[in-house]
Amino acid sequence: MEAAERDERRLSARHEAARLAAEGVRAVAISWVDNAGVSRVKTVPTSRLPQAAHRGVGMSPVFDVYTSDDAVATSPHIGGPDGDLRLLPDLERLTILAAQPGWAWAPADRYDQNGLPYPACQRQFARRMVRLAEAQGLEMRMGFETEWVVLKDDGTEGHAGRGPAYGLTRVAELSDYLLAVHDTLAAQGIEVLQLHPEYSPGQFEVSTVPADPVRAADELVLVRESVRAVSLAHGLRAAFAPVVVARQVGNGCHLHLSLRQNGRNLHRDPTAAHGLAATANIFLGAVLDAMPALCAIGAPSPASYLRLIPSHWAGVHRCWGIENREAALRLVLGEPDDLEGGHAELKPFDAAANPYLLVGSVIAVGLQGLDDGGPALPAPVSGDPAGRGDQERLPTSLGEALTHFERSGTLRAALGEALYGAVLAVRRAEAEALAEHSPEALAEATRWRW
Ligand code: GLU
Ligand code: MG
Repeated sequence: MEAAERDERRLSARHEAARLAAEGVRAVAISWVDNAGVSRVKTVPTSRLPQAAHRGVGMSPVFDVYTSDDAVATSPHIGGPDGDLRLLPDLERLTILAAQPGWAWAPADRYDQNGLPYPACQRQFARRMVRLAEAQGLEMRMGFETEWVVLKDDGTEGHAGRGPAYGLTRVAELSDYLLAVHDTLAAQGIEVLQLHPEYSPGQFEVSTVPADPVRAADELVLVRESVRAVSLAHGLRAAFAPVVVARQVGNGCHLHLSLRQNGRNLHRDPTAAHGLAATANIFLGAVLDAMPALCAIGAPSPASYLRLIPSHWAGVHRCWGIENREAALRLVLGEPDDLEGGHAELKPFDAAANPYLLVGSVIAVGLQGLDDGGPALPAPVSGDPAGRGDQERLPTSLGEALTHFERSGTLRAALGEALYGAVLAVRRAEAEALAEHSPEALAEATRWRW
């Protein structure tokens, strides 16, 4: 980062710090997401935001090989006690936290001490991939769904609310709480599409409007921390883990995406089947093809595979279908007269994923497909693929997903050696550490990590 750019950042941070202070904000949380999907943070007093924006805040690179249980792995390029990185808050995403009075938050990009982009910075990886797509005239809109289970914060961890799945009863039971989630997100400028009770006891979901991929990842982080804070303020705890109670339907973190090219919505081609222009068809075909490897990024915990079971709406077969909620890729056609409509939903992913790694990886494999000229999407599948017996099952363990990941030259090249090595080290360490756990012990061990 050039000196002039740093100076400019310091100047705008001075304005921002004054604005925040006038609103009673006394501290800023500057966070980033590690390879195990855990948001890690440094906080600074609001008065030091200009320094943080100028030179960054120090943090060890060793966190890139932290596992979700805070153990430390080692990788070829990253690990050990030496070195330091600078967390630079993205001032454009600086947000006053409505449910944490006195606090603001900003996501960080990570740089080295010479001001050079850190090669293993996941957020910059995502941005790099977005720019690669843009260089081909391709614009992507993405959005995550956040699912969570509300438990009592009274030591019993009993479910809050007893109402049925998708039941209006749950809204009555947790009326103030759910309204506070709505209010908090609105106050933070996050536009909610819908918030509703989900299938499992105490489970809810919120989805937000699509945005550019990096922003979508930022918003996922912010939504989750907001739900967490609102929950705690109501004497509740929000569990986002892939599986909260073993053998129950888990928490997904589905990724929705749509494509445009040179101002054209690629989901509204009147000459193409399902309106899917050839470019979108190939992009999505390549994503579906790479889904087993993508599971190592989007379903990154051994606990992810407790959730990925057939007939649980988690999309565990490598197929796609129109509005098929059991396919890994659900194509949503939208209203025919909505010229902006149409998108795809990738269902196997969960909240243990680092959202920046995930959006960047999805773009990387999609772009590779376009380079290679395929594969396009195969024939769509209707009905539950579990009942058909002819559809490929996605990995059933993290180890299996890793085998596919290690075969993906595309992901390795896109991530770069340092980031690739760190991701692999973290996955292997988690797979090994949790290998002997029963489903119950695995759910218990991971319940509160994200
Ligand atoms: N909870 C389901 C999952 O594990 C998803 C339900 C839905 O389709 O939103 O992915
Ligand atoms: Mg859902």
